Parts: sequence; C-alpha cells; structure tokens
Amino acid sequence: MTKSAAQEVRSQSDNVQTAIVAAMRGLFGEAKQPLALHEPEFAGREWDFVKECLDTGWVSSVGSYVDRIERDIASFTGCKHAIATSNGTSALHICLLLAGVDAGDEVLVPTLTFVATANAVSYIRAVPHFVECEAVSLGVDAGKLDAYLRENAQIVNDVCINRHTGAPIKALVAMHVFGHPCDIEALDDLARRWKLVLVEDAAESLGSYYRGRHTGNFGRISALSFNGNKIVTTGGGGAVLTNDPELARRAKHLTTTARLSDRWNFVHDEVGYNYRMPNINAALGCAQMELLPDMLRRKRSLAGRYQQAFAGVDGVRFLSEPAGTSSNYWLNAIVLDEDLAVHRDDVLGALNDAGYGSRPVWTLMHKLPMYSGCPRMGLGVAEQMQARLINLPSSARLGV
Ligand SMILES: *Cc1c(COP(=O)(O)O)cnc(C)c1O
Repeated sequence: MTKSAAQEVRSQSDNVQTAIVAAMRGLFGEAKQPLALHEPEFAGREWDFVKECLDTGWVSSVGSYVDRIERDIASFTGCKHAIATSNGTSALHICLLLAGVDAGDEVLVPTLTFVATANAVSYIRAVPHFVECEAVSLGVDAGKLDAYLRENAQIVNDVCINRHTGAPIKALVAMHVFGHPCDIEALDDLARRWKLVLVEDAAESLGSYYRGRHTGNFGRISALSFNGNKIVTTGGGGAVLTNDPELARRAKHLTTTARLSDRWNFVHDEVGYNYRMPNINAALGCAQMELLPDMLRRKRSLAGRYQQAFAGVDGVRFLSEPAGTSSNYWLNAIVLDEDLAVHRDDVLGALNDAGYGSRPVWTLMHKLPMYSGCPRMGLGVAEQMQARLINLPSSARLGV
C-alpha cells in the first residue's frame, strides 16, 4: 500500500519534530522544568550595589552608578560616549531625533526586527519604510537596498528623496539580529552614498563585533537595551552610543528634561524627555557589566554545542555568526529548510511540549496593522526566513 500525500506530509512533520527534540535531549537531557528562552542571571555584586542605593537613598534619577555605568559601557564598547536611558526604545527615539529625522520624513527600517525599531520612528511622526534582509546575518541586505534606491529614490540637494512619495528619506536603521552583526560596513558605505544617517539598533548586540570593532561604533549614533531578556540587564534600561561629543551632549540634555544647570532654578531650554536610567537600575547594571565577559564566554560555548548538535540533523541549519564577525549569541536560532517551513508550528509545539521553550521570530513589521500601509521594497527573503526560524533556549547558564 502506498502512502497518501497527506500521510507523507504527516510523517515528514513527525520526522523533523523527532529529530529536533532528540537533538535537544542530547544537549540538555529531559527538561524537568521548562527551559526558558532567556533568563537573567545575578551571580555577581548585584545585591551589594542595589543595597547601597537603598541605604544611601540614591535610588532615582541621579547618582554615582549612572555615571559609572556610562563609563563602563563606553569602555566596553570602545564608543567615546554612552548615555544611560530608561530603556532601549527611548534610546532609539533619541538616536532618531539626533539623526535629524523630522515629522513626515521616511526612515529605512528592516521589516525583520522587534517592533520598537519602527515605533521609535513613529514617535517622531516619521514614516518607517521597510527594507529586506539577507539570509546569512538576517540584517539589512545592502545590495538589494542599493538596487531598490536606484529605482525608487534620487538625491536632490544632498537629500535622498523618495520618487513616489516625494518625502525625504533621512536615515537607515541597521539592526544586529539575535546579536549577529549585520554587514555594517556595506551599509555604512550605502548610507554615505545615499546621504542617509546610519543609526544602529544594537539592542541585541552588546558584546558583538564586526571585524574586531564593537557594534554600535559604525552608525553616527546607536542604541543599546538592558531589558530583562537582553544579555545583561538593568531591569529596564538602555543607552545611546556615539563617538561625536556634540551628539553625546545633546543626548544627555534631551534625556534629562533639557534642564539647564543652575543652583536651584528649574530652567529648560527645549522640550526634553524624562528618559533617565534610575540609579538603582544603573547599580544592577554595573554589577551585570562585571559579569558580561563571562556571560559572553558561556553564550558562545552554548552556541558551539548547538552547532554540533544540529550539524547532523537533516533539514535544519543552526544560525551561526557571519564570517568576520564575533556574535554575542544573544538568542540562538535554527532555520528549517524551505520545504519544512509548513511544519514550523508543529516543531514549536513539540519543543515546548518537551519543555524546551522556543518561539518563532517577530511578526514582520509590514504585517502589523499599524504598519501595513507603509512604503516597502520586496520582502520575500524576510518572509521566507520568518516562516522558517525557531529561537531556542539561550540562557548563559546553559553554556559551560
Ligand atoms: C529589546 C529591543 C529593543 C528595545 O529595547 P527595550 O529596552 O525593550 O525598550 C529595540 N530593538 C530591538 C531589536 C530589541 O531587541
């Protein structure tokens, strides 16, 4: 008796589920308690530093830990200036304001990103214009974007103009997906040729390097996040990075209500934001920054184990760092072969049922209701990748 087409599909699905769950068992054994996608870890001086804030009363918007974390971030990333913020989204908002984005402008944003990247554009009443990713790094595809701009944009008086909408295209946001550096030198070159300000959303890539240089150093201005799910956390927090002293001064001013220094008067010289990182969060972050090198070591070791475990699994590719880069492996991912995409949700079900917390990647930005009408280029690769990606448990404690 020959199998029906439906039976073939069923058994293909069973096979891929079984193979992937077996690979996970091989790595972690039976999951007695469900493994989370990402857990924070507090193994250093967190209690001491936070207690000091409580003991001294310095819990809020200023304090020595804020200054210290800014120095720590700058020295770790090699960026001249770091300005601590309330979260990564507020950092991105400030980056775009300082990139000169105005209401009505367009900003090139990857469709494959977390919603904050596009939201930050919307906060300025600018328009996200969605761009394609490539399959190696999952970052913006510089070659395709260049061809698209040649068709659809022109430079008039040193400003890139969308030929269809007539709107200025002011900036390009590059994002390092899951911590894997995108082809940032090609994007930097593209941004120069097209008169775009390059902004890096480095929220996921603290500890990731492109040709030895830390991500966030390529854009004119960049954003980090210290949310609870990121490689190190301040509870909630973020930072603006830049090598330009004037932009750094502006970022500090705008994130601290644009208050002028004065002995006691409250004088503000423009509409600023309360985007400060509280000292108590900075204290947590200072302790976390001390752990970052060890977290990175264990994250990379976990990625190496995943790489090996999936090397022998048919139909599955472990997403590894692009050549010439060093990833922080913030979030591990596998990509199913194209013909297995139809089974992605079955695989997710099997993994989660077995206790291995797994998720699909974000819904693409152009598929979200508030962004479905925005301008965009062909996004076929992003759609393919979105249908095939699975994120796997990535806590540093799983690495050895
Ligand atoms: C986490 C994240 C952000 C936002 O950071 P929050 O601190 O949560 O506001 C922005 N962009 C990307 C790509 C992120 O992963």
